[in-house]
Amino acid sequence: AAAVTTNGSHGYVLSPENCDIDVLDNGRTINDFIDIKIKETENEEPFLVANLDSMFKRHLRWLNNLPRVKPFYAVKCNNTPAVMQMLRALGTGFDCASKGEIQLALSLGVAPDKIIYAHTTKPRSHIKYACSRGVNMMTFDSEDELLKISQGHPKAKLILRIAVDDSKALLRLSLKFGAQLETVDKLLECAGELGLEVIGVSFHVGSGCTECGAFKQAIADARQVFDIANLMGFQMRLLDIGGGFSGREDFQVKFEEFSEVINSALEKYFPADFGVQVIAEPGRYYVESAFTLAANVMARRVITGENSPDKVMMYYLNDGVYGSLSCLINDAAHTAVEPYLHRKRYPSVVWGPTCDCLDKVTDSYWFPELRVGDWLLVDHMGAYSVSIATDFNGFERANIYSVISSEILQALNLSNTYDIIHHVSSPEYPERTTR
Ligand code: PLP
Repeated sequence: AAAVTTNGSHGYVLSPENCDIDVLDNGRTINDFIDIKIKETENEEPFLVANLDSMFKRHLRWLNNLPRVKPFYAVKCNNTPAVMQMLRALGTGFDCASKGEIQLALSLGVAPDKIIYAHTTKPRSHIKYACSRGVNMMTFDSEDELLKISQGHPKAKLILRIAVDDSKALLRLSLKFGAQLETVDKLLECAGELGLEVIGVSFHVGSGCTECGAFKQAIADARQVFDIANLMGFQMRLLDIGGGFSGREDFQVKFEEFSEVINSALEKYFPADFGVQVIAEPGRYYVESAFTLAANVMARRVITGENSPDKVMMYYLNDGVYGSLSCLINDAAHTAVEPYLHRKRYPSVVWGPTCDCLDKVTDSYWFPELRVGDWLLVDHMGAYSVSIATDFNGFERANIYSVISSEILQALNLSNTYDIIHHVSSPEYPERTTR
């Protein structure tokens, strides 16, 4: 169990009391932990293990590669309490999309100025709630939203979200959100007439962005908007480069490649002496690889066709697309999972537990033959999975166990980020990517 108190690197210490984080000590590994949980699990319930070490290392990687960009974690991606507490202890800000997410961040003691209400289409009551709690930064992309904000939070610090080229992303967001560059003058004029304060520009290059150039172009576009707004008398001082960074090591573009392009675009369009604070809203970057699902084969059917020389195996897991594997249908940026074993393989169909035939995990696997009662592990389950899971058909959501190693816990609670970087960038702590 761990709780956050106020002494550590960002005023918070993650300590092993009062909250559900297990500490891996005496050389216990995450695989040992999973084995123990499988043995302990009497009712064959699925469970997830959140590896907080992985989040810690990814945070250091962020600090090393994008030193000018402060991350505001996108809560929508995974709001597991241990994830939120870990990020709070690491000192990130939070990107919240609703009253509920703002309440969650505030309940953990996050300061209102470390929250950006990053949704351009907000219910009036949520705007008023943000106002009442001193959450001032919020995004907009339309005149109607400006009007609502002027009524619900006239002192808000506004960030104009622009649409950018996200055609190379696995999940496009500018189809739904973001003002076109041609409309920016009019929107800013409207903000001015309503007496609102616009302080910056945001964009999102799309989730699972596959093209570094998208950031370069978007940062150049943002600079254009800064120039227009500054000329109109706004004091522009915040650039928000959004999310879009994969959380997987095997992704086609490495985080370091994105960072290089972003840093040089910032240097060109927003040099340090321009006096602009740069933030980002990473979601999957922090959590995608930190979660592993353990699901049980609760039933199977062997299909032998007359024309087919080989049998097809149908497996029914105790978790599926209505539960932790929701990302398989809800997250276009999620890529497939891989089987581990080396035995004779059969074409295999893996189903979730519900009565709905949409609840199919995959039909394109060649698995070795599994038995009822076997467990399957699925890596990279942290992004847009548990936050979208349901209990459809009465199958309960998977339990989440969070673990941190004693070494990382100690490093996390060192007195400043500099110490942390030096403590952990030694090869003793390689990032675990595959089992
Ligand atoms: N910010 C906004 C406004 C979003 O809509 C999203 C994802 O939908 C994110 C940040 C997080 O994106 P990602 O998980 O790709 O980093």
